[in-house]
Amino acid sequence: MARNENGKQMPLTTETSADSSERRFRALIEYSSDIIVLVNVRGQVIYISSSITAILGYEPEEWMHNPILALVHPSDVSQVQQAFDDLLQTPGQSRRVDCRLRCKDGEYRWFEATSTNLLANPDVGALVNTFHDITARKQSANAERNQERFELVQQAAHIGTFEWIVPGDTISWATEAEALYGLPLGSFGGHFAAWEATLHPEDRERAVAEVRQVAAEGGDLDTVFRVCWPDGSVHWLRALARVFSDEQGQPYRMVGVNLDITENKAQEQRKDNFINMASHELKTPITSLIGYTHLLRSRLKEHPDPQVHLFLDRKEAQLNKLTLLVSELLDMSKIQMGQLPYQTKRVDLDELLREIVEDIQAITTTHQIILQDNASVYVRGDRERLGHVLFNLISNAVKYSPRANQVLVWISHDEEQVLISVQDFGIGIAEADRERIFERFYQAPDPLEQTYPGLGISLYLSRTIIQRHQGRLWVESRKGKGSTFWVSLPLESRE
Ligand code: ADP
Repeated sequence: MARNENGKQMPLTTETSADSSERRFRALIEYSSDIIVLVNVRGQVIYISSSITAILGYEPEEWMHNPILALVHPSDVSQVQQAFDDLLQTPGQSRRVDCRLRCKDGEYRWFEATSTNLLANPDVGALVNTFHDITARKQSANAERNQERFELVQQAAHIGTFEWIVPGDTISWATEAEALYGLPLGSFGGHFAAWEATLHPEDRERAVAEVRQVAAEGGDLDTVFRVCWPDGSVHWLRALARVFSDEQGQPYRMVGVNLDITENKAQEQRKDNFINMASHELKTPITSLIGYTHLLRSRLKEHPDPQVHLFLDRKEAQLNKLTLLVSELLDMSKIQMGQLPYQTKRVDLDELLREIVEDIQAITTTHQIILQDNASVYVRGDRERLGHVLFNLISNAVKYSPRANQVLVWISHDEEQVLISVQDFGIGIAEADRERIFERFYQAPDPLEQTYPGLGISLYLSRTIIQRHQGRLWVESRKGKGSTFWVSLPLESRE
């Protein structure tokens, strides 16, 4: 027994104080929340603490004698290598770098790595590295940076974000959203009714119905509407949003953005005004050209040179094309201004269809237009405008089937409606373009870069006209195989 300084007996052990402090020191390392790694002068691991298992998922043996750099994220390797090289030149010094290490499951975590060169220390003889896990700190710093960047982007691009919790009827807006509605900061009520109140009276019913429908059925929202600012000015906004469901799969929240498109709308308006003015200006000289051509034709009726008559025919055909283009442009700008007049009367569709087919056949040498069936039905509508629609569909069928020689036109009916189809065996329309071809100026891109004459407005006009007759116009098509355009119109009565 040994005695302590008070003369009390103490148990004798074989352990020296150096042994016990090494044991304590090892325990400290093993249970540390950091990873301690000793590497030799070549950067190979000669000791790694067992804490690596809890933090990165490896057994320490997996990394023994391997280069530590193999654990480091490829983007961080060069700065870690640089620190290592520096350290080798400066015995006793330390370096600190932030780097990512790969976990066994392939994920990366962030560490603050502190390395000290103790190669010259005879008790250690290694570079000692401590890896302190800072992933959480990095993530929250990143989240803050992202949030800040997101807010700056919203301000810079005039985008207002919103989130509407549908069942609870609460809407949270980013401050930029309030600016888009001309509202002072923090004054938005935060409920659907408060948003509704900002809408222009002419757009309110439609916009509310669209938003409510998407909120009820799920999916994506893309709509435009006008809002009235408190100062009396009117601004155009576009809302893009998506509905996310709750755990039961019920639509729960709508998250999206508002964009100010007032300037785009103003540009569109200027373009419409220009088209309107240009088509009016073009109409007058074309009308007088047609008049003079008729005069010339009557004067030259007896002219012996057949070429003169051929040239006059060609001139007239080109003038007719020009007249059609200009009148389409005029109609389009009238639609934009809500001023396209309709003269409604009883229309015999069989007769109209036969007339149009004959007119087109008279100027078409490449295709045979085959009219099948007749429906013996009447609709109420504007005969001339309905004729334009049929003319557009059949001439498109000819135009977009340059390698075919037939166009099939059908007419049939049931109790309520008449159905007309125009089928071609031409280039067809890709799925992505099938709705878009009814937009103003949209022309489907052709992969063969073949160009077809036209302005891209006939189908827009045609659909508008058919919708004004309470009918529908749609297309079925396969790229490369041909298209069938369908028109349905409500029947007036049966004969
Ligand atoms: P366009 O003056 O360009 O013919 P339209 O409004 O009539 O304008 O048609 C819009 C676009 O729809 C066309 O540019 C073409 O890409 C496509 N399209 C229309 N009809 C057909 C058809 N029968 N077959 C294939 N594509 C068609």
